Amino acid sequence: MLNLCPVTVVKLAPLMSLYDLEITDWQELLPKEPLFRSRQIWRAIHEDAVRPEQLTSLPKQLRNTLSQTPELSPGLRLIQLSSDDHKLTEKALFQLEDKRVIETVLMHYPERSTVCVSSQAGCAMNCSFCATGQQGYFRQLTTGEIVEQVIWAISRTRATRGEKRLSNVVFMGMGEPLANTRNVFRALTRINSDIGIGARHITISTVGIVPGIKLFASLGAQFNLAVSLHAANNEKRSSLVPINRRYPIELLTETLDSYFRVTRRRISFEWAMMDGVNDSDTDAKELISLCVPLEAHVNLIPLNPTPGWPTKGTPKTRVDEFARILENAGISASVRDNRGTGIDAACGQLAGTMLTRHSGERFYSDSSANIDVGDLLD
Ligand code: SF4
Repeated sequence: MLNLCPVTVVKLAPLMSLYDLEITDWQELLPKEPLFRSRQIWRAIHEDAVRPEQLTSLPKQLRNTLSQTPELSPGLRLIQLSSDDHKLTEKALFQLEDKRVIETVLMHYPERSTVCVSSQAGCAMNCSFCATGQQGYFRQLTTGEIVEQVIWAISRTRATRGEKRLSNVVFMGMGEPLANTRNVFRALTRINSDIGIGARHITISTVGIVPGIKLFASLGAQFNLAVSLHAANNEKRSSLVPINRRYPIELLTETLDSYFRVTRRRISFEWAMMDGVNDSDTDAKELISLCVPLEAHVNLIPLNPTPGWPTKGTPKTRVDEFARILENAGISASVRDNRGTGIDAACGQLAGTMLTRHSGERFYSDSSANIDVGDLLD
């Protein structure tokens, strides 16, 4: 126990982030403080995204104590911030307590600001076109490490965009969120209930982890589900997204059908458009046949090139033609911006570059364990 009388702070088990503390932990941490203190701090660190010691309504002595409590130091250390698209896209590279590196991307649009958060350090899914997949899996992020990325994005939006508030959160950064359901679902609750971002503004993106989709449906909330499909036949999809061998398209669509019937939430399919790989008329027709029964929406995203995957993104004219084929078949489709190509925008690419640059120095760059996805499901 740290005895910092007259303000007593109890030492807790090692934390990866102060956002790993539950409100009851705050009560334990400050045993001599009135109960309302923990609620006051809780609200401020979530709703206002401020550090506890910056909360001027707290007594000065308590603020001093909080600022010197190692357990409350930030879990994410910003080691690089880069921007592109006239500063409308910013990428943060964070080092975690154990020196792992993750990235968080903040994107501003006229009508919204969206943060793309990581849910794992690395990823075990090994999608062939993805920079994170090329690095391998290191570990699950804790609830606090996920929430802290959102807190950073709120502060950053406030600092750079004035009155504008962070409006959307997407789990499309490093990692497969539905292979870290326990921590990700807790983070969803925090982001929704404590930070105050509406469930309809929060999206989980998965490569199609069937047990995770079933659990997600059972939450009974209004969150969005996006499925990274990229191909609509098993042979092609398995070569791009190897988890398709375990959860093939028939099983995936059956699960999505149940999800749709239970939640009444429309599913989105993400389709990274790869030149000559998945952008033919046949690919479009196969995609249409999956979308119709599910009433799914399609997001077409020109692929960001990655070092380990030489294929280029589909040219814009062909992306537009592909979209027209879908629309003529009655499928709702959007062509998404390819944001941040000048700053290693592709999923995991920035962290991958840093790992290579600093190999053997400050950052961990050992090869990942050979993980079975079943080991990751909780
Ligand atoms: S695309 Fe997503 S699921 Fe696939 S390897 Fe990359 S981070 Fe993992």
